[in-house]
Amino acid sequence: MTLAFSQLPNELESIANQGLYRTRRVISSPQGIYLQVDGKTVLNFCSNDYLGLANHPSVVSAFKSAVDQYGVGSGSAHLICGHSAAHHALEEELAEFTGRDRALLFSTGYMANLGVMSALLGRGDAVFEDRLNHASLLDGGLMSGATFKRYRHSDVEHLNSHLKKASGQKLIVTDGVFSMDGDFAPLPALSIAAKAHDAWLMVDDAHGLGVLGAQGGGLLDYYGLKQTDVPILMGTLGKGFGTFGAFVAGSEDLIETLIQKARTYIYTTALPAAVAEATRASLKLVIAESWRRDKLKQLTERFSVGAKQLGLQLMSSTSPIQPIVIGENQQVLDISQALLNAGFLVSAIRPPTVPQGSSRLRVTFSALHEEVHVDSLLDALDKACAGLR
Ligand SMILES: *Cc1c(COP(=O)(O)O)cnc(C)c1O
Repeated sequence: MTLAFSQLPNELESIANQGLYRTRRVISSPQGIYLQVDGKTVLNFCSNDYLGLANHPSVVSAFKSAVDQYGVGSGSAHLICGHSAAHHALEEELAEFTGRDRALLFSTGYMANLGVMSALLGRGDAVFEDRLNHASLLDGGLMSGATFKRYRHSDVEHLNSHLKKASGQKLIVTDGVFSMDGDFAPLPALSIAAKAHDAWLMVDDAHGLGVLGAQGGGLLDYYGLKQTDVPILMGTLGKGFGTFGAFVAGSEDLIETLIQKARTYIYTTALPAAVAEATRASLKLVIAESWRRDKLKQLTERFSVGAKQLGLQLMSSTSPIQPIVIGENQQVLDISQALLNAGFLVSAIRPPTVPQGSSRLRVTFSALHEEVHVDSLLDALDKACAGLR
């Protein structure tokens, strides 16, 4: 039974009492390392625009010229009359970029995940998920109607014990780079487990694409894994690519099946063609400008060395996602607020986004940050976290 309207105030109060209340900040500037928040300029350490492309001049100008050609709205779903030459070209370029037969655009990553899992699975099948998977993967698994099993984080032995008992079609799903922890899924071992049990493997590499691999091909590129090792790759365009939307890449048969059966593909309006053109421009930068990845590595390294010297508890992440686990909800909110007062935007991440008792500051870096920014953040963290040590 859901809540009656009259109970909502109590429910809201209880959310607030647990330190779980969520509020929005109103931003009046483009995305970048500086943001205008409520009229104040702050240094931004919580964006997923890792490569600093969201407001890049060539991405912005590709968007503007495409608006002149296509206008704003796409008019309908892809299968009606919304699939433009811009979308089509981007799909071909994403297929080539990921080394796969084909790619298919979705309007968001959330919808891509729901769409794939519902198209491929049903009652009598089984889905296996890492405990720390993104909410959209968990929801996709639940919505698919398949038997739903979670395995301990990155624990392939535990996964194998579930796989042994399963029947029907099997799908293993994992984040590539874990969104709230920043560590890497053990993809080579997962791929072996999948092959041994005749299961499909699906990787959501929202946080690896653009950031890892010599040309930004992501975690699969980093590990040297191909379409035969990981048949289903999902990527988002709103993070490393700096634009909006998502795609799934894989075999001809996979993509055709999604076009026929993925309801979140069929029954939604195509993203604007101008967003596709902007993404084509950003894809060129992702591939060509490896200095952005090198810079991210340097900044991350500098931060993790500095944070350890300060005695802050980091996780074992080498990605630009560097969480500092605090534990208590209210405490992490207080620290985040103290940082904001000092001019640093670092978001507080709380349950259910992360497990109970593991509330954290999620620090992320952008290729546009400089070493002085990292150093000033470390100073601010030293002061804001003083009470913890
Ligand atoms: C952001 C994210 C998504 C959702 O992508 P959107 O395009 O923002 O809907 C899916 N999976 C992971 C791991 C993400 O981080």
